[in-house]
Amino acid sequence: MQYNILGKTNLKISVVGFGGIPIQRLNKEEAVKVVNYALEKGINFIDSARAYTVSESYIGQAIKNKRSQVVLASKGPRTDYQGFKKNIYESLAAFNTDYIDLYQVHNIKDKGTIDKIFGEGGAYSAFVEEKAKGTVKHFGLTCHKREVLQYAIDNFGNQIETIMFPYNIVETQGEELFANAKQKNIGVVVMKPLAGGNLTNINLAMRFCVTNPFVSVVIPGMASFEEIDGDINIATQPLTDKEKAECALTVEQLGNSFCRRCGYCAPCTVGIDIPTCFTFQNYLKNYSLSEWAYDRYNAMKVTAEKCIKCGECIKRCPYELDIIKKLEGVAKDFDNFNKSK
Ligand code: SF4
Ligand code: SF4
Repeated sequence: MQYNILGKTNLKISVVGFGGIPIQRLNKEEAVKVVNYALEKGINFIDSARAYTVSESYIGQAIKNKRSQVVLASKGPRTDYQGFKKNIYESLAAFNTDYIDLYQVHNIKDKGTIDKIFGEGGAYSAFVEEKAKGTVKHFGLTCHKREVLQYAIDNFGNQIETIMFPYNIVETQGEELFANAKQKNIGVVVMKPLAGGNLTNINLAMRFCVTNPFVSVVIPGMASFEEIDGDINIATQPLTDKEKAECALTVEQLGNSFCRRCGYCAPCTVGIDIPTCFTFQNYLKNYSLSEWAYDRYNAMKVTAEKCIKCGECIKRCPYELDIIKKLEGVAKDFDNFNKSK
C-alpha cells in the first residue's frame, strides 16, 4: 500500500481509503468484519457521514480497540455554528469515540453556502471551537460542483485542509481544481472513482485516480472482502498508451450524462428508487444479464413508468440530469424487452 500526506493536516494516509456508504446494507457483524479486513490490508483512512444511517456506528464498533490506527473522517450537512456543532457531537456518539480526525461539511451546493460556512455564526467557527477542545482535528469540504470548491479555495484556502470531489475516467473536471488545491497544500480526497459502478475495469479505474499526483486518497465504497481486494490490488504505475485508449473508449461509451448513484435525488414523490432503475437498465443493456435485470426491475415496489413528472428529484440532482426523460427511457427499454420475449 502506498501512503500519502493529506495536505496540511500532515496525516499519513493510505492512497486507497474506505468509503463508508455501502456498509449500510450489511448487518453489524458483517460490517465489522469488512472494516477490519480493510484495516488488515493496510487501509487506514475511513470516511463516513451523518447521512449514511448506521455507517458511523458500524465503523465505530469495528475500530473500538484500534482507534489510534485509523484516520477517521466524517461529515455533516449543517452549515451554521449550532447545527455543525450538533453534527460533530452526533458523529462522536455514533462512532463512540472522543475525537474525529477530519470533519467535513457535506455536499455544499453553492458559493453563498461557502460564505455562510466561513462567516460569523457559520460552521467553521464551530469547528475552531471544537478543535480547541480536541474533539475534531481537521476541517474539510465536500462538493460536486467544481466552481463552488474553486471559490472556496480562492477565498478561504488557508482555513480549508481538505476537499472531496468526484474524479474518475469519465469525470475529469476536477483536475485543475486539484492542482490549485495542491498549491495551497489542501489534501484531495477523491470520491466516485468507479463512477458509481459504471466502470467495470476496477484496476484501470483505480490506477487512473491514484496516479494523479494531486490526489491524496481515493475512497471507493466497500462492502465485501472481494471489493476490498479489487480496490487495493493496484499498481501505481502510470497508464500505458493502450490503457489510455481504453479510457477514451469508456468516455465515449458512457457519455457525460449518466447517473453516479449518489442518491441525492431521493426521496421521489411517488417512491421510485431512481438510481436503481438506472442500474437495472444498465444491466439490461450492457451486461448480458437481461432476464435477471428484467426480473429485478419488475420486483421493485414502484417502477419508472409511475413517475408523475413533478420535477422534485431534478432539483436535487447535483449533476442536473434530466431524470424524467431518463426514466422514460428506462420504462421504454423494459417494455421493449418484455415485448421481445
Ligand atoms: S419527477 Fe418523477 S422521479 Fe422525480 S420525484 Fe417526481 S415522480 Fe419521482
Ligand atoms: S439521478 Fe442524479 S442525484 Fe439521483 S442518484 Fe443519479 S446522479 Fe445522483
